[in-house]
Amino acid sequence: MNNLLQKAYDPDLFRKEGHELVEQLATYLENSINGTTKKVIDWKQPDDLYDQWKDYLQKDVSSQQFFSDLIDQSIQLHNPRYMGHQVAVPLPVTALASMVGALLNNGMAIYEMGPVASVLEKWIVSHFAELIGNKDGDGFLTSGGTLATLTALLSARQAILKNDVWENGMEGRLAIMVSEQAHYSVDKAARIMGLGARGIIKIPVDAAYKMQTDQLEPLFQKAENDGLKVIAVVANGCSTSTGTYDDLNAISKFCDSKNIWFHLDAAHGGGAIYSPKYKNLLNDIEKADSVIIDLHKMLMGPALSTLVLFKNSDDSYKTFSQKAQYLWENEQDKEWYNYAKRTLECTKLMMSVRFYAIIQAYGTEIFNEYVTRQYDLAREFAGMIEDHRDFELAAQPMSNIVCFRFDPKNELDLNKLNNRIRKKSLEKGEFYIVQTELNGDTFLRVTLMNPFTETTHLQLLLKELIDIADSIE
Ligand SMILES: *Cc1c(COP(=O)(O)O)cnc(C)c1O
Repeated sequence: MNNLLQKAYDPDLFRKEGHELVEQLATYLENSINGTTKKVIDWKQPDDLYDQWKDYLQKDVSSQQFFSDLIDQSIQLHNPRYMGHQVAVPLPVTALASMVGALLNNGMAIYEMGPVASVLEKWIVSHFAELIGNKDGDGFLTSGGTLATLTALLSARQAILKNDVWENGMEGRLAIMVSEQAHYSVDKAARIMGLGARGIIKIPVDAAYKMQTDQLEPLFQKAENDGLKVIAVVANGCSTSTGTYDDLNAISKFCDSKNIWFHLDAAHGGGAIYSPKYKNLLNDIEKADSVIIDLHKMLMGPALSTLVLFKNSDDSYKTFSQKAQYLWENEQDKEWYNYAKRTLECTKLMMSVRFYAIIQAYGTEIFNEYVTRQYDLAREFAGMIEDHRDFELAAQPMSNIVCFRFDPKNELDLNKLNNRIRKKSLEKGEFYIVQTELNGDTFLRVTLMNPFTETTHLQLLLKELIDIADSIE
């Protein structure tokens, strides 16, 4: 055998480097959780960082050194001062499960390519169907919320229209109705489906950033008058920018009355289903024809895996009805165990293993503990902002997302000021927060993802923002 290949697959080398790496990662975890690492993000301009890593290959370093440099220069999500985007702070057990999945690399397109991971996937789907209160629910895991949204909307199109679009192609002009606060992936999915900008009907939101459901009827009428065929309404549970849950009951009733599809985007907020305290935010979730939940956001798994759950099992098979003779024998057969019949992917990650590993180790109570804690903390932070003279809250948080801005009351251009504050804070790197635009205004935004973030960190954040503002003025 070729020497290089021999070395690269050497079990003893793997054992040695693997142990070293686990040591390194455990140290990373320790220092991050304790907050001993000062920086959450070591900000560098993209071109500078590129130059550095481009030249890195010229250096003769061990893989241990490489991993060490990689860890040091990456964003440290496990640091309690990480409050940025909605990315899970992964549980260590999911990293172990990912490693197993990466080495076993069972393909998952059909049962015989990944038998165990396939049945674990079925277990996960049934588990959520039951949680949601929809025992006949069915679905699968797919690579992220964006793909999950596209898949669900393609299913909506197959289910709602008399014309079999998959077979005959599009006829007429289709449209979907979405909250103007919907994630941009909904827009993307609609455009991929050929709906164009005209086919994306934005429903305005109220002062709390909730969809104004009384606007559904008039905008639906207008769309029909314009010659559009509306196939679905997309609800937020919750929205990305402000973390707002829409009124699912009203949306579901409207969809029923028009015989159109009710899709719930619970990519971020679906985890609330585990929290007795907050699951009421998802009341009527069982009425949605399709729901998506990212396991890599509020369910503490690593990127990327998303649950797509259908109310009717049949709908989950309609989307990509396709002949692939070498993979399965009969296109008409519902073969739950051949997942590629229902997903866009052919080869797919062994996603189920990571989520199952969490439940295997800790049960489902860990999700309640986590979600409830983070949602509580957001409410507490909102209170701190309201009590503070120099800060303004955008809206009462419904989830663990809080939008606010610095407002010293004597500043004319608050957008510019808050933009600069956020940029400085990024460059400083001691906290990681993001920003968003609401009704044309810039707001600072935190998503309290980290289970080690405490009130003290939030007090320090406000202090840091004031210090930055002082340094600017
Ligand atoms: C994150 C998010 C998405 C997109 O999911 P990805 O997994 O990032 O592709 C869609 N909708 C909402 C509400 C989200 O928060």
